[in-house]
Amino acid sequence: MRFDDNAGLDSSEVQDLRGSGGGGGIGGRVALGGGGLGLVGLVIYFLMSQFGGASSAPNPASGPGLGSVGSGQQVDATTLAQKCRTGADANRDHDCAVVAIVNSVQDYWTQQFTRSSQTYRKATTRFFNGGVRTGCGSATSDTGPFYCPADSHVYIDLSFFNELKTRFGAKGGLFTEAYVLAHEYGHHVQNLTGTSKRGNGSGPTGGSVRLELQADCYAGVWANHASTTPTESGKPLVQDVTKDDISRALDTAARIGDDYIQSKLGSGHVNESSFTHGTSKQREKWFTTGFQTGQPARCNTFSTNDLG
Ligand SMILES: [Zn+2]
Repeated sequence: MRFDDNAGLDSSEVQDLRGSGGGGGIGGRVALGGGGLGLVGLVIYFLMSQFGGASSAPNPASGPGLGSVGSGQQVDATTLAQKCRTGADANRDHDCAVVAIVNSVQDYWTQQFTRSSQTYRKATTRFFNGGVRTGCGSATSDTGPFYCPADSHVYIDLSFFNELKTRFGAKGGLFTEAYVLAHEYGHHVQNLTGTSKRGNGSGPTGGSVRLELQADCYAGVWANHASTTPTESGKPLVQDVTKDDISRALDTAARIGDDYIQSKLGSGHVNESSFTHGTSKQREKWFTTGFQTGQPARCNTFSTNDLG
């Protein structure tokens, strides 16, 4: 995947909380009722009430370019804005590539919602290091990337992408990151459409698995449209999505299936009743369904008896 050198980036869709040391030991851990990718060591104490959601009110004590997002956390609003301006920046800088992916995913959904006479509300991705406080409680990097419906942000410690390679054995590459981010934005779409509420219950045909497979499918839908979705300037930001890109997305999907994680990274024993995200095969199948059809309506994981 390459970006058009001349396309503009909107860095305001990503907030940088790295270095603000937010995670620390206060309050409950974030609970991922379908928000994350389904990782080992997902710790779940849901004490959301301890957090009123991250505030974006300006903090008078902040320096220039810094905004407060809850106690002890600050957004560095200047660095990304300065370095991530065009597709050329995205082609040479990793942070800017993530900005470009987020822009492309949200451009697609904005246009898709408009086509179906709905309004898409953009969600900001927040970079963090180590730990972070969110509207869903506090989280550490162990949680993996996740979407918090309470504050409508995607949270990601970018070191996760190294972990995918070293711990999960994934091939990695930029399109792996695109798949992961597009999956999290799939959860945002579900939040906007009200589908999130149906995502309760574990087990191989439970609501959680259906929600996760639908998010995988939505990621595939975006991949289908990525190189034809124009930015506000009228030209697509993503120049191409190659076969190699798709194979990297599928490789990643295979590494984060419940059965793979339980058998290779967990106890070694596969327990279907605790499935929350679907098997590796199912995750590959639903990403492929989205990619091949390009139609969100085909991501009908709640109305099918055949999840794969
Ligand atoms: Zn998910």
